[in-house]
Amino acid sequence: MIDTIPQVKQPEIFQTMSSMEHEQLVFCQDQATGLRAIIAIHNTVLGPAMGGTRMWNYSNEAEAIKDALRLSRGMTLKNAIAGLNIGGGKAVIIGDAKKLKNEALMRRFGKFVNSLNGKYWTAEDVNMTARDMEYIRMETPFVTGIPQSMGGSGDPSPVTAYGVYMGMKAAAKKAYGSDRLTGKKIIIQGAGNVGTYLIERLVAENAEVFVSDIFEEKIAKVTSKFAAVKVMHAEDIIDADMDIYAPCALGATLNETTIPRLKCAIVAGGANNQLDVEDQDAEALKKRGIIYAPDFLINAGGITNVFAEQQGNYNKERVMEQTGRIYDVCLEVLNYADNNDVTTHRAAVQLAMDRINAIGKIKISY
Ligand code: NAD
Repeated sequence: MIDTIPQVKQPEIFQTMSSMEHEQLVFCQDQATGLRAIIAIHNTVLGPAMGGTRMWNYSNEAEAIKDALRLSRGMTLKNAIAGLNIGGGKAVIIGDAKKLKNEALMRRFGKFVNSLNGKYWTAEDVNMTARDMEYIRMETPFVTGIPQSMGGSGDPSPVTAYGVYMGMKAAAKKAYGSDRLTGKKIIIQGAGNVGTYLIERLVAENAEVFVSDIFEEKIAKVTSKFAAVKVMHAEDIIDADMDIYAPCALGATLNETTIPRLKCAIVAGGANNQLDVEDQDAEALKKRGIIYAPDFLINAGGITNVFAEQQGNYNKERVMEQTGRIYDVCLEVLNYADNNDVTTHRAAVQLAMDRINAIGKIKISY
């Protein structure tokens, strides 16, 4: 126990929370395990907040807070537009996953999640594994997306990829008048879980698929599985001639440097937070006549899957049917954007907010 209280610098956290309309921000600290985590609850109008836990070696605390706030808001929009009865939340654990992660740390984190009594449900995200979910599950029932061997629904990536595929088809319908992807030149950035399942569907439809990844072994795995897939250098994709660009790696690949160089009709991919500066970059895409299928809308298959698991009586067929609706919602968003002369990103945000506001009203008007 220390005997002097250190000075706390004014971090303006409430002001930031208020500007993004967050409900709650929980700081979790544990001396014994070295755990430093932040749980951000953005909005619980539709139901308890749900969103994965990300572990990242943030360079400072402000960066971690910003990420938690930004990602949890994204979950509110994603969950709402996917028609799920859950709000938006996200957790970040600060530190190098390779060095810091162990059973004790994950279980301590699970205890913090448990202390929120179900107001926040966690799941897997960047640098977390099914094993980590098992450790968290030892301390709290408020975790979903656990392995099939533990009675869970397992890896959500195939469902995410299916939603991205349906969103891509909707965008093709808007751009070309037909949703057939046969012969379309499509570049997939990132040969990870989502990228690979997406490639499987595109190859089956005889699209001309190109893939890029920063790791040779990822490329080798995909090309050995799908002989028709061609490889492109990671640094060449932005300037390449293509019909559809599918970001399936990291966020912020749509920015002031890349957008002017893009030579495609459509952007539709699985990565989260593709727009670096949301409204500004969405506007730049609109000005260039590029149809952008909003990321949080078309990559909602994964959360649809883990939400179904959380509800009990998991039924894969029903989850795929629900995820397939992304096609119709995406078309609705693209048409709304056209009719109202707004960006497709704004249109999707509007639709999500409309649902939250409408349900919020019936909740308090009895
Ligand atoms: P993953 O880690 O399996 O795959 C990401 C791949 O991108 C890796 O192979 C990585 O090497 C590659 N990569 C990283 N930087 C790259 C670059 N500059 N150029 C080319 N490749 C690069 O992750 P994932 O589960 O497939 O998720 C991919 C994206 O989709 C992430 O942004 C994730 O947040 C988002 N997402 C995933 C799910 C899901 O169900 N897995 C759900 C919703 C959103």
